[in-house]
Amino acid sequence: MSGQNTGGHGGRIEVYRCADCGSVMATFTVVCHSCMSARIEKAALGGSGRVQTFTILSVPSEAFADEAPYAYVIVRLHEGCTVSGWMRGVGSPAELAIGDEVEYSGMRGQASVFKKKVSGG
Ligand SMILES: [Zn+2]
Repeated sequence: MSGQNTGGHGGRIEVYRCADCGSVMATFTVVCHSCMSARIEKAALGGSGRVQTFTILSVPSEAFADEAPYAYVIVRLHEGCTVSGWMRGVGSPAELAIGDEVEYSGMRGQASVFKKKVSGG
């Protein structure tokens, strides 16, 4: 156990939301994927979700060279949108499972970083 500096407040993840139909999109888009509205606005979500799929990367990209191993994850947020990001310290498929609860912990450069949600027990 190393002393982890957690603020106690979950991070919030920035997404884009259609002002007309409320669809949530993880990346900026000129028009809404659902209703083609151009009224896209920024929104912040809680950042909690479940792992939809993931890939272990043992050879890191330069930006993460000091954090290998890690996993590239696709997370289905509870708000209903899917985002991609990274999880530190995941070195084998046994350490993570599809359906695991994770939460957004912050940005690392241009990438979202997730961590396992700690639940009692
Ligand atoms: Zn829309």
